[in-house]
Amino acid sequence: MELLNSFVAKTLPFIPKPIVGKVSSRYIAGSRLADAVAVVQKLNAQNMMATLDILGEDVLERGKAESIRNEWIRVLDEIRERRLDSNISVKLSQVGFRIDPDFCYGILRSIVRAAHERGNFVRIDMEDSTMTTATLAQYRKLRAEGFENVGVVIQAYLRRSDADVRDLVKMKANVRLCKGIYRESPDIAYQDRDEIRRSFGLLMRVLIENGCYVGIATHDDYLIDKAYELIQKNNPDRNRYEFQMLLGVREQLRSSIVAAGHRLRVYVPYGDQWYSYSVRRLKENPQIAGYVLRALFTGNNT
Ligand SMILES: Cc1cc2nc3c(=O)[nH]c(=O)nc-3n(C[C@H](O)[C@H](O)[C@H](O)COP(=O)(O)OP(=O)(O)OC[C@H]3O[C@@H](n4cnc5c(N)ncnc54)[C@H](O)[C@@H]3O)c2cc1C
Repeated sequence: MELLNSFVAKTLPFIPKPIVGKVSSRYIAGSRLADAVAVVQKLNAQNMMATLDILGEDVLERGKAESIRNEWIRVLDEIRERRLDSNISVKLSQVGFRIDPDFCYGILRSIVRAAHERGNFVRIDMEDSTMTTATLAQYRKLRAEGFENVGVVIQAYLRRSDADVRDLVKMKANVRLCKGIYRESPDIAYQDRDEIRRSFGLLMRVLIENGCYVGIATHDDYLIDKAYELIQKNNPDRNRYEFQMLLGVREQLRSSIVAAGHRLRVYVPYGDQWYSYSVRRLKENPQIAGYVLRALFTGNNT
């Protein structure tokens, strides 16, 4: 089955987009902000927080990056007006990083300022390793300017993350810790599942022991158990950490974490630019082959 999964994952670029869209619809709230708002309202009613993501990356036109900034401000207004329990997750490549890092910083700063004015928080998603240094630099610059309502992401698969985390704890950074989703070379990234888990466990311990706010972003039972152990041992304030999961993934696990008394946030993507995100999610789905083949041959996506 693993071979078939990996075969289907490799052939995804050749699978018609409507089929990919169908099998990945569980991961995406919809194409409009109103769709995302409805999903967040449902999550909030189940005692779960959310973070909104406008789908799309690698924007190469200034005008487009500026219109995404305006959309983000509309999202922040909507969160405030509807009293949603949600913050936002922004990708630098979506707000002009590939055009000019300084231009991108200007946009990011205006989003963070708008969030600050509305009592909200911005998480800067972490993209591939060509952007790690620059993303951390933009985060540090915002903090140096006095913005506290901003957080960053650390990917446990990167060998450099140990040093990055030790640096971030000095400024009591707010960190989302995840395994990392991009294909990176063995020179810079662990490839082996156990090594990545070991790195995740170590980084999580350093962050919790040093009193940083941690977003524990994983659906991996092994790491969730490790997190429970660390939480029991260090007894951090309940408001100093949260679990984070992706929309459409392991909903039962999500509920069990909340039932155990922990805070949990769901990542809620919406928008038209769903393809790259969906492919990344599908590749991580252990049942990818079954879903894709069923959709191809029967038109059924469940
Ligand atoms: C809230 C959140 C934010 C993230 N932000 C970033 C980011 O900024 N940068 C970045 O590089 N990565 C990000 N990621 C992705 C992350 O790096 C991993 O690629 C992803 O979470 C899968 O790793 P895992 O720890 O869940 O372990 P895995 O071993 O991949 O998954 C554990 C189990 O969860 C289930 N599962 C996982 N994914 C799926 C899926 N797509 N469909 C169905 N079942 C699934 C399976 O049962 C699997 O066995 C984020 C993840 C989360 C939860």
